[in-house]
Amino acid sequence: MSRCLSDLGIEHVVLERGKLAERWRSHSWDSLRLLTPNWMTRLPGFQYDGPDRDGFMSAPELIAFFERYAVSSGAPVLTETAVQSVERSGNGFSVVTNRGVWSASSVVVATGYCDLPAVPAASRGVPESVRQIAAPDYRRPEQLPAGGVLVVGASSTGVQLADEIQRSGRQVTLAVGRHTRLPRRHRGRDILWWLDELGVLSQGVEGVHDIERSRHQPSLQLVGRPDHSSLDLAVLHDRGVRLVGRVRDINGYRVTLTDDLVATTAAADFKMAEVLMRIDQFIATTGVDAPSPEPFNPTWPLAADPPDHLDLKDERIETVIWATGYRRAYPWLRVPVFDAHGEITHNGGITPEAGLYVLGLNFQRRRNSSFIDGVGHDAWVIAQEIARSMVRARVA
Ligand SMILES: Cc1cc2nc3c(=O)[nH]c(=O)nc-3n(C[C@H](O)[C@H](O)[C@H](O)COP(=O)(O)OP(=O)(O)OC[C@H]3O[C@@H](n4cnc5c(N)ncnc54)[C@H](O)[C@@H]3O)c2cc1C
Repeated sequence: MSRCLSDLGIEHVVLERGKLAERWRSHSWDSLRLLTPNWMTRLPGFQYDGPDRDGFMSAPELIAFFERYAVSSGAPVLTETAVQSVERSGNGFSVVTNRGVWSASSVVVATGYCDLPAVPAASRGVPESVRQIAAPDYRRPEQLPAGGVLVVGASSTGVQLADEIQRSGRQVTLAVGRHTRLPRRHRGRDILWWLDELGVLSQGVEGVHDIERSRHQPSLQLVGRPDHSSLDLAVLHDRGVRLVGRVRDINGYRVTLTDDLVATTAAADFKMAEVLMRIDQFIATTGVDAPSPEPFNPTWPLAADPPDHLDLKDERIETVIWATGYRRAYPWLRVPVFDAHGEITHNGGITPEAGLYVLGLNFQRRRNSSFIDGVGHDAWVIAQEIARSMVRARVA
């Protein structure tokens, strides 16, 4: 956003409560790597230009990348500056921070789609003797008490934590909900290369049937590893991870599970087969050079006959990790732009309140709006809108 505003000559400041790229410093586990390949780290006026285009950056590498970006763009970032309130003041806004008050004709909320962990109400039933943490607080297996671990959620985060903890020698049980399965590679290329080539990632909101459903799709079950391997339920099952259905309720040591494991895995298999078929059709029609497809292995047969409950004590499960996605909260935003779920109402990032914008939300304008690779497009649209509103204000 800052780079786009600078390119249009618009004076601005970036307020960050922590350090630059704070989220990657304080909310990622030690072994985390981006799930998007390096060539997909494309931002306005700056992109990955290192030697490993097909590799996946670690969190420290990504922080260094953002630091270089801020310097190269001359971004006016004020760190350790937490926004405490944003209120209407005349035609603009009064922005109160721990380091003084600002007045601004426009405000862009860019506090992240993955702001706070969305932990289900069932967590309240976990007994005190069992440790529970949300995924952003997980760092490494040694941080957990000895004993088994229940990981709830099998999207990108859940499968990675389940794998790492199982490899550390603990028994992991993975409670699987709705997920989006994809292989890391297909027909000789990274799966995201194909989706990029097909235009799936940059598909706009107008191209989907039900935007609310698309916005709430689980994250891709993908990991970024130096060996480009896939991590799906079959791999985890082979490593000894126990797969169970969605957690419905927890009451003391008793965890009630939903009988949906076959349904959710079959749905993910079906969706994946559909995506791969689209790629195969693309290869057939364009003549792109690609090796033959690998055989398709469905994961649903692994899901047969799961238990309908777990007993945390009997199974010696000492930790529950909630890898159940994210939510957002804006207690400091005192402007009436919220829907019934507390989300900011917007049309492509433009809110009904003149001068207030939001950036980085899931499928905000395009499918990749909340990805590093997609946010630049939306930022540019909003920056131009801000420029237009400034011209309108001058004329009025
Ligand atoms: C585990 C995980 C893995 C991911 N992997 C990838 C990936 O591989 N590729 C990819 O493209 N995307 C990935 N994403 C999505 C990723 O979050 C986005 O791509 C991108 O980092 C989001 O950037 P952002 O600036 O919109 O939000 P964030 O990175 O969340 O930044 C928001 C910033 O706002 C600050 N802030 C919040 N409230 C205030 C306040 N009141 N005052 C001042 N500052 C405030 C926060 O400190 C934070 O630094 C991943 C997300 C997660 C959670």
